[in-house]
Formats: sequence, C-alpha cells, structure tokens
Amino acid sequence: MASDLEAQLRSVSLRVTRPRLAVLAALRDHAHIDTDTVIALVRAELPRVSHQAVYDVLRALTSAGLVRRIEPAGTTARYESRVGDNHHHVVCRSCGAIADIDCTVGHAPCLTPSNDQGFLVDEAEVVFWGTCPDCANRRDAQ
Ligand SMILES: [Zn+2]
Ligand SMILES: [Zn+2]
Repeated sequence: MASDLEAQLRSVSLRVTRPRLAVLAALRDHAHIDTDTVIALVRAELPRVSHQAVYDVLRALTSAGLVRRIEPAGTTARYESRVGDNHHHVVCRSCGAIADIDCTVGHAPCLTPSNDQGFLVDEAEVVFWGTCPDCANRRDAQ
C-alpha cells in the first residue's frame, strides 16, 4: 500500500517523506477530515510530527493536486484525496456531515452558465445543502 502512495508523490515530483506518506494514508482512509483530525491520525503513527509540519504537508500535497481542500461556508477547511473527478459535496445544515456527490454530467465544469460574461469557464464548484439521514431520523423521532 505504501508503495502506491510513494508512486503518487513521485508522480508529482515530491520527495517521499514519512509525514507525507502518513498524511496521504490518513486521507485515503478518511474523506473530508479537518486539519486537527489529520494531525491526530498522523501522530498516531508518527508521534513527533509537529502541527506545522502537517500544515506544510497539506499545503504541498494540495498545490501538487494530490489532495483537494474544500471549505463549505461556515465549516473549517476539509481535505480529501479524491481528486480530479469534478465531484461535488452535500453538507448537512444540522451536524455538518459532508458526503460526495458525483459530477452531474461527468466532466467539468458540470454546469454551464446561461451567460458566461466572456469568461472561459473550466470549473463549477457546487455545494448542495440539506439534512443528512441521521439528522432527518432524529428529527422524525422527536
Ligand atoms: Zn446531520
Ligand atoms: Zn469529496
């Protein structure tokens, strides 16, 4: 498994380091986690890694395109390793749970503006808002 992650780093010309591998492994196993959760998961494996080191790794992996950072309004930034497929997110208004929604048409920009104002549009970032199944059940039970 680690060799897959090493190959990912090499494919974007990033040096293979244990903190980078640990962050990629955390994001492979957990989608849409915030920085604190990434730090906790990395430290479970590498107890001496600093917060700053994890921040730096997240920034490097995000700018290299291996990791995607999302920040729905009112939530802290979350990270995921599902990249390059133009998927969207649905966010629960009650508890903040986030789930993936496949791109509606299968390729960016997914939505075509009725008037693009002369811009060359290459991406549409869509956040669907609603109530997750757990919160809906809790509400029904009341
Ligand atoms: Zn919820
Ligand atoms: Zn996602």
